[in-house]
Amino acid sequence: MKLAWTAGLAAAVSLIAVSAYAQGQPDFSKVQIKTTPLGNNLYMLEGQGGNITVACGQDGVIQVDGEFAPLHDKIKAAVDRACGGKPVKYLVNTHFHGDHTGGNAGFAKDGAEVVAHRNLLLRLEHGTTNGLSGAKTAPVQKAALPVKTYTTEGLQLMVEGQSAFVNHPASAHTDTDSYVYFPAANVISTGDVVSTGNRYVTIDYANGGSINGIISTVETYLRLGNDQTKYVPGHGALATHADIQAYHDLLVRVRDAVKNDMTGKTEAQVIADKPLAQIGAQLHTNQQADDNMVKMVYRSLKGVKANKA
Ligand SMILES: [Zn+2]
Repeated sequence: MKLAWTAGLAAAVSLIAVSAYAQGQPDFSKVQIKTTPLGNNLYMLEGQGGNITVACGQDGVIQVDGEFAPLHDKIKAAVDRACGGKPVKYLVNTHFHGDHTGGNAGFAKDGAEVVAHRNLLLRLEHGTTNGLSGAKTAPVQKAALPVKTYTTEGLQLMVEGQSAFVNHPASAHTDTDSYVYFPAANVISTGDVVSTGNRYVTIDYANGGSINGIISTVETYLRLGNDQTKYVPGHGALATHADIQAYHDLLVRVRDAVKNDMTGKTEAQVIADKPLAQIGAQLHTNQQADDNMVKMVYRSLKGVKANKA
C-alpha cells in the first residue's frame, strides 16, 4: 500500500487495490492486526485496507468492514480475542471498495449477515470501473453479496448490549456509502468519507461520489458527534471531533482552490495551474496525487455522470 502511494497512485483506494494486484499480491502474511479499545466493548482494528470497528455484545458481534479476503483468519482471531469468541452476527460494508468488502464471503461463511445499502449490492453484483484509471473490477461471487440491504430509511442493528444505527449519505465517497453510529459508546464509523493522514480523500465520481457530498457528510458527522466522540475513519488514525473539523476545513480549501480556478477553463488548464500546490505541500503528496485530486474535484463539480450500477 505504501509503495503504491509513493508510486503516485494516491488517487483511489480501489486503484491501489488494483495496482497492488497488478504488481503482485501484497504480502498478507506480514500483516498484523492492531486492536484499539474504544470503550463500551467496542474496538478499532487496523490491518491492511480500511479500518474495522467491532462492537461486542453478549450474544454476538456487530462488525463494520472486513478488509481483504486473505486476512479473514487474522481478523477473525482479533475479533475473537476482543469479544471472547462471540460470533459476528452482522458485517456492515461502509462502501463497495475491495479493501472494505473483500472479507464478505469469509465472514458470511462463518454465519455473519452482510449488511449494506442497496446500491452496494448492485455495484458488487455488476462489477465496476475506476474513473481515473479505467481499471475494471469484476463482479464478486454470490457468497460475497450483502443479504440485508436498505434504501432510503436507515437500519438499526442490535445484539445483546449493543445497538448501531446505519445510514446512507446519498453521494459521498461513492453512492454505496453507509456510516455506522454507536450511540452508547459515542463512536462513529465513517467509511472512506473520512480518509486522514498524508493523502487526499478519494472522490469516486464514476461510482456516484461527489466532493460536495463528502463535505456535507463530514458536516453530518460533526453534528452527530461531540467533543468526546471517537471517529473511526476509513483510513488513518482514530480521530477526535477537532480532527474531523480540521479535516472538513481542509476539504473545503481543496474544493474551493479548484472551483475558484475553473471558470472558463478545461480540466487540463486547471491541472496546469496547480491549484493544490500549497495544500499538497502541507500533506506531503506528490504532483501525480495533486493532479488526480484536481481531476476528481473538477469532474465532480462539473457533474460528470456516474457509471450505471
Ligand atoms: Zn474506498
